[in-house]
This record gives sequence, structure tokens and C-alpha cells, in this order.
Amino acid sequence: MNNIQMNEANKRNESFIRSGEICDHQHSKLKEYYLGTATGDYRCSNCFAEL
Ligand SMILES: [Zn+2]
Repeated sequence: MNNIQMNEANKRNESFIRSGEICDHQHSKLKEYYLGTATGDYRCSNCFAEL
């Protein structure tokens, strides 16, 4: 499983939302990290929303 930084995930999620696309979250998950610590949340690898 891949990891992503929370700030990066938020940025990418905002551009996904701006693109107007729709995601069913049937994609692989990314483990969310904040400053080297896992937050316990997961992000969709397509739209970067919190799962
Ligand atoms: Zn998604």
C-alpha cells in the first residue's frame, strides 16, 4: 500500500473536485500521513478523498 501526506492529499482532492469528475472510490487506498505519523485515515488513490 502506498502512502500520501495529508497536505498533498488535500491539494489533489481539491483539484479533483474542481475537475468535476465523479469517483466511486473503487480504487486502491493510500495510507494518510501527517509529518511522518500515520493519521489512521485512508485516501482514495483516484480522487484523494478521505475514506
Ligand atoms: Zn475516490
